[in-house]
Amino acid sequence: MVEDPIQMVDLKKQYLRNKVAIDEAIHHCIDQSTFIKGPQVTQFERALAAYLWAEEVIACANGTDALQLAMMALDLRPGDEVIVPAFTYVATAEVIALLGLIPVMVDVDPVTFTITAQEIEKALSRKTRAVVPVHLFGQCAEMEPILQLCRSHQIYVIEDNAQAIGAHYTFSDGEVKSAGCLGDLGTTSFFPSKNLGCFGDGGAVYTNDTDLGERVRKIANHGQSQKYKHDLIGVNSRLDTLQAVILLEKLKLLDDYTAARQWAAAWYDQALADISKIEIPARASSSTHVYHQYTLKVPARDRDGLKAFLQQKQIPSMVYYPIPLAKQKAYQDLGRIVGDLAVTEELCQRVISLPMHTELSEMQLEYICQTVDDYFIDP
Ligand SMILES: *Cc1c(COP(=O)(O)O)cnc(C)c1O
Repeated sequence: MVEDPIQMVDLKKQYLRNKVAIDEAIHHCIDQSTFIKGPQVTQFERALAAYLWAEEVIACANGTDALQLAMMALDLRPGDEVIVPAFTYVATAEVIALLGLIPVMVDVDPVTFTITAQEIEKALSRKTRAVVPVHLFGQCAEMEPILQLCRSHQIYVIEDNAQAIGAHYTFSDGEVKSAGCLGDLGTTSFFPSKNLGCFGDGGAVYTNDTDLGERVRKIANHGQSQKYKHDLIGVNSRLDTLQAVILLEKLKLLDDYTAARQWAAAWYDQALADISKIEIPARASSSTHVYHQYTLKVPARDRDGLKAFLQQKQIPSMVYYPIPLAKQKAYQDLGRIVGDLAVTEELCQRVISLPMHTELSEMQLEYICQTVDDYFIDP
């Protein structure tokens, strides 16, 4: 057994990396007592915009709100269709349903697990108004053909970038952009376990369209242009100043966090590549991978056995995601399904995510990989 218990995500150890700076920032913030709309919120928005090469970042309360704000800003109307991958976290479809829009669920690429232009094209209708590519597990969907298709049909693109902050996408002409800054609006989450996590809930919308950015900002603040003057119906969705000061400190380390994840992923890749029953995560050709998750494909009949075996050896693992969106009780009668979602169905049976975070040690990785190996030698 190894020294520390292995965790899916080790937030405590990550905090200890820059505890002094974070503690100081928190105390300063409490001293200052501007808990809502403190100057650090704007500072963080600017710092993140600079990091992402984005025109505008609007901080908000969480990643689900960020998606809702994006859709409200685009003025989508009840009955409009929004295309989403069937293999994703529920939040993506939830806000669509809440706004009276119709989620149209499409299958994903079997290699990268992300939405494709081909699947989107099959799903288009007269009512299609937007597509939400989800940059699942830390790499971008193949965006260039998606953007071309959507542009030619005048369809908005909202990137759900909750899992891929810091990833980069390279276009065929060599231009490089940040994940989330490729379409009309990008959204992200600062949930503690995300690649850039705060100490509670947080989220942001980003865009290069300053008019849209202004709309998002208004909507997030009760639709108000000036105090007590409300131009739009909005919501209350803010990032606490305390979370902003934490994020300001953690943003400085985001490149280090990403490098640590990529190092752990490379370690896994190398140690697991020779196990014939395992497919290690494939890399998309045009995107870097920031490994929000390290997700294997294993034979369906082995998946739950492997999970139980790992558990027995004190190694946590997770299945993201076990049930296709279209089969969730709340969503099964809602919206439209395109095709048979065969890839999504298969992935739900076959995927398993191993521990992935910024603090994995070589000893832990070795132990995890040895245990996976043991299972497949003698399942
Ligand atoms: C985490 C996540 C969200 C939601 O973010 P919250 O901050 O938890 O609301 C949305 N989409 C995806 C793909 C996510 O992983």
